[in-house]
Amino acid sequence: MKPLIEIRKDLHRIPELGFQEFKTQRYLLDLISTFKQDNLEVHTWETGIFVKVKGTNPEKTIAYRTDMDGLPIFEETGYEFSSTHDGLMHACGHDLHMTVALGLLSRFAEEPLDDHLLFIFQPAEEGPGGALPMRESELFQQLKPDQITALHIAPEYPVGTIAVKEGLLFANTSELFIDLTGKGGHAAYPHLSNDMVVAASHLVTQMQSIVSRNIDPLDSAVVTIGKITGGTKQNIIAEKARLEGTIRTLSPEAMEKVKKRIEALVEGISHGFNCETVIDYGSNYRQVDNEPGLTKEFMEFVRQQGTVNVIECKEAMTGEDYGYFLEKIPGFMFWLGVDTPFGLHHSKLKPQEEAIQHAVDLLIQYFTFKGNRN
Ligand SMILES: [Zn+2]
Ligand SMILES: [Zn+2]
Repeated sequence: MKPLIEIRKDLHRIPELGFQEFKTQRYLLDLISTFKQDNLEVHTWETGIFVKVKGTNPEKTIAYRTDMDGLPIFEETGYEFSSTHDGLMHACGHDLHMTVALGLLSRFAEEPLDDHLLFIFQPAEEGPGGALPMRESELFQQLKPDQITALHIAPEYPVGTIAVKEGLLFANTSELFIDLTGKGGHAAYPHLSNDMVVAASHLVTQMQSIVSRNIDPLDSAVVTIGKITGGTKQNIIAEKARLEGTIRTLSPEAMEKVKKRIEALVEGISHGFNCETVIDYGSNYRQVDNEPGLTKEFMEFVRQQGTVNVIECKEAMTGEDYGYFLEKIPGFMFWLGVDTPFGLHHSKLKPQEEAIQHAVDLLIQYFTFKGNRN
């Protein structure tokens, strides 16, 4: 097999958006077909792949999940292996996550464990969300693992470090789009129109009270409107306005509550300003909630191995659709240190590639510990 670093470069060159990972899927299937096939079962699902490594004396199935998609970002890394797909980039490390999966898979294809292993190559993590439909697929129900593990690269930690915690790791997230439609008109005849710039402004201001007045201060939430568009010209009253934002909460209950309050406020605006309103929540991701027993065991295992440092981190308001797997399958996600000054989703993100081998070595040890009985 090619060195893992070269595989990562190949994947980095061909970033694709969610459910369009055609070349990526082809690349993965071609490479997997060069592995020893005796113990492998390969299934495709949409643009994703399931690979089962049959155990020699199985009692359970242990899964590793990787995401596959890139982002609509113009790459500015200066890499000689930069994206060949204009305007698309692997800026969230999913090229590294896939490479780790391939490193593990090639090893366990040669030397299967007692237990079954399941490798899940999941499309569309960045949107519209592949985890939930993949989890609900018939294939997944048949292959259903008893335990699941995933990692995400972390620019802020040094190579040779992982960070993890029991319980909540990532927030519940929802996109938010609100369209307001009133009546346009001449700027000098406001009494004959319904001005959607004024309505949208009131709504943005009112929504600031949701987190400050409706959410328990000990249960954090964020409501951010990141973009407003409306109107056509400086002397025309705006007929339409659109707000675009995101909601983040530390509990599914707080997410429900925030949405109920947004709906009530939007309803009020629609009466108060005599306009039509439509709310669209776009992509919604469930929290990543690490199962405490397995997480603690993993942290202790890593500390004992002593090859990688373990940091106990705090939860973050970022989102990951891996949370849908964790809703049904006990397991955890951890951060893998890749030490780079630019954050996730940045056009200059350059993860240190040595982190790949650290992750592969660590997970070979961990899966062997979990999946072999002697
Ligand atoms: Zn991302
Ligand atoms: Zn990501």
